Amino acid sequence: MQERCSATEYQNWLSPIVLVESTNEMLTIEVPNIFVQEYLLDNYKKDLAAFIPTKPNGELLLNFVIAEQKKKPAAPMISTPAPASEESAPASFHEVKLNPHYVFEHFIEGPSNQFVKSAALGVANTPGKSYNPLFIHGGVGLGKTHLLHAIGHFAKQHNKKLRVQCITTEGFINDLVDNLRNKTMDRMKRFYRSLDILLVDDIQFLQSRLNFEEELCNTFESLINNNKQIVITSDKPPGQLKLSERMVARMEWGLVAHVGIPDLETRVAILQHKAEVKGIRIPHKVAFFIAEHIFNNVRQLEGALNRLTAYSRLMGHEVTEEIAQKSLGEMMGPSSQKKISVDNIMKSVATLYEVKVSDLCSTARTKDVAFPRQVAMYLAKELINDSLMKLAGAFGGKTHSTLLHAWKKIGTQVETDERLRKQIQMARRNLEA
Ligand code: ADP
Ligand code: MG
Repeated sequence: MQERCSATEYQNWLSPIVLVESTNEMLTIEVPNIFVQEYLLDNYKKDLAAFIPTKPNGELLLNFVIAEQKKKPAAPMISTPAPASEESAPASFHEVKLNPHYVFEHFIEGPSNQFVKSAALGVANTPGKSYNPLFIHGGVGLGKTHLLHAIGHFAKQHNKKLRVQCITTEGFINDLVDNLRNKTMDRMKRFYRSLDILLVDDIQFLQSRLNFEEELCNTFESLINNNKQIVITSDKPPGQLKLSERMVARMEWGLVAHVGIPDLETRVAILQHKAEVKGIRIPHKVAFFIAEHIFNNVRQLEGALNRLTAYSRLMGHEVTEEIAQKSLGEMMGPSSQKKISVDNIMKSVATLYEVKVSDLCSTARTKDVAFPRQVAMYLAKELINDSLMKLAGAFGGKTHSTLLHAWKKIGTQVETDERLRKQIQMARRNLEA
């Protein structure tokens, strides 16, 4: 199972499982509480069925034992809801260790992230005093977690007494579940209020766990009221999260900052910095080549670099552009043979302009979606040899004249608009890679 889920998921939901008994007919496992049991069944049933015996109807032959019940079998919950003693409660709260590499010094600045970096530095310098909360949003692999940890490192370095806690949304919810169950919420509240800085990664996961929203919101409020700093990351801006108005308002209260896709120059700088840290030399031309081809995710850039250096070591070659071409070609693998489809175009354009694919097919006319939609239509006509009607239809049933109009408009604009030309070039390269 460890290979099938993220490290956090594994740590939260799978690693607490204890095997009690295993026979051919039935597997008995112990889980910390009923929530874990439900979560496992809700989310991992299919995966578990791959190696746990099942009934003919597909039900798992799996028996759960709840750890607490086993420890206190005699406690009749109904008649004596005596508060659990503080000692019996979980001693620690979920915490994410700050990644030692994720410091400001290793964060390369460019036009797409200058603003968010200075906001992060501001908060790290004077926690609770500048913007509260600081809300960082942006696409996958663009450095949100990196900045979050950098704030933690910086604040601790400059004031050893500060209490900094970094958590994932999932971890926070687990703490809540444990403490609600153990009736130790007071203790949890005290703990969180004793913090100076709370760093919350990936708040978007709260959307699927709405019953915990209010608790989290209360915690935020009480921290902010006590001038404790909160920093939140998310893959979307607050207004696009499916959360209550109160929560959204809370998150918009301080400063909302966006991490964008780094431009080519910044991507080259990031690659060269990462190479230097690893003690590898890559020629500027090679860095440029990689950065040109991988443009929407810094984590992928790093992946490419790792692959390239492994390749050149194994082959005993210097890192050259040719090697880069070879090893990256393999990395982009099947996608290089993939036929360009309207779907691919929409995905690529959606990433580039940070809109949803569904927006591109919608009838919304606001500029922030109408323009990307026209770009996608332009690319569809340029890159796919199919009837206008069919292409237009793929955009949520638009007419061929809409598509033709978009194609002409973008085609004219491209002639004079340098920025647009670069964006289209990028999307094209990404699609044709
Ligand atoms: P996110 O949380 O936004 O998905 P991460 O913070 O995990 O992304 O970043 C992914 C990887 O990319 C990390 O290894 C991080 O160090 C690196 N990275 C992202 N942006 C930058 C940057 N501007 N400079 C240096 N490294 C970066
Ligand atoms: Mg992250």
